[in-house]
Amino acid sequence: MPELPEVTVITNQLNKKLKGLEIKSIEYDWPKKFHWGEFSIKDLKGAKVSGVERRGKIVIIRLVSGSVGKWDSRKNQKKPTNQPTYKPTDLSILIHLKLTGQLIYQDKKTRIAGGHPLPPLNKPVPNSTTRVTITFDRGKLYFNDMRKFGWVKIIEDKKLEEEDYIKKLGPDPLKMKFDEFRERLKAKRQGRIKKTLMDQSVVGGIGNIYSDEGLWRAKVHPKRSIISLNEAEMKAIYNGVRESFKIAIEKGGSSANAYVDSGGEKGLYLSFGKAYHMTGKPCARCKTPIVQEKMDGRSAHFCPNCQRLK
Ligand SMILES: [Zn+2]
Repeated sequence: MPELPEVTVITNQLNKKLKGLEIKSIEYDWPKKFHWGEFSIKDLKGAKVSGVERRGKIVIIRLVSGSVGKWDSRKNQKKPTNQPTYKPTDLSILIHLKLTGQLIYQDKKTRIAGGHPLPPLNKPVPNSTTRVTITFDRGKLYFNDMRKFGWVKIIEDKKLEEEDYIKKLGPDPLKMKFDEFRERLKAKRQGRIKKTLMDQSVVGGIGNIYSDEGLWRAKVHPKRSIISLNEAEMKAIYNGVRESFKIAIEKGGSSANAYVDSGGEKGLYLSFGKAYHMTGKPCARCKTPIVQEKMDGRSAHFCPNCQRLK
C-alpha cells in the first residue's frame, strides 16, 4: 500500500492541478530520504511543472526551466563556465510513496489527497508525518510518510531509465499484452503465483491488495506454483488483475474509501474489494467465508471453495 491504482489516481489529479505551477521553495525534515543528487534548490527554483506521471508506484513531477533556472540555451545566454551544461528543462522530482506515503496538495480553494489512508487524508497539513513541502506560486504539495520508508529524488530526465527502481521495474500490467505477461511469469517456474505477481521486477505495481483481488477474480489459489497454471488460468489472472485495477482507478483507489481505526491498515475499507481484508465475510460468488493465510511473509486472502489448491 499504496498500489498502482492509488498512485494512478493521485497522479492524474496532480497532473491537472500542478501543471504550469512554479516552484518557489522546497523544505524537508528527513534528509536521509531526500536525494538532491548533483542538484540544489537553485536548480529547481522558478522551474515550472510540465506534467505529473506515474512509473510503477513512483510519482514523477516533470519540470521545465523557469526564469530563475540555470543556463537556458533557448535564451541564447552565454554559457556560464562554472556550471554544468544540462538545461533546467531536464529535471524531474521522483517521489516513492512506499508503505505509508501520502501526497496532499492544498491551496486556498482546493485540496487533493491520495496515498496511504493514515493519518486521515483530511488531517490539516503540515502535520507530524510531513517530510517534504514543495511551495509553488499557488499552493503547496506535502509529502507525508508516517513510517519514513518513502523517498524523494531529483534526477535528470535522461538518467530516468537508469534510476535503480525504474531500471528494475517490470512492465505496467495495464499496458502489457497477455503474451508478455505469461512469458514473464513463466520465467519464475516454481514461484508461487501471489508472490510472483508482487515481484516488481516481473510486473510493476501489484502489491498485497491487487494480488488478492486479481487471484480471487481468476479463481486461482495464491499458493499455486507458476508451472502448475494452464493457459486459461494464466489468462484469467491477467484479466483479473487488470479488472481489479481498472475498477479501483474508477472508484478513486482504495484510499478514497478508507476509514480510520486504531488498528492502522486494518481500517482500510475497499468498497469494491472481494477478497482483501474480507476474512470471514461471504465470498461474493459462492458465499463460503473468505479465509486469510500467511504465506511468504504476507497475508493472502482467498475463497477456499472457488480458489482450490489443486
Ligand atoms: Zn467462493
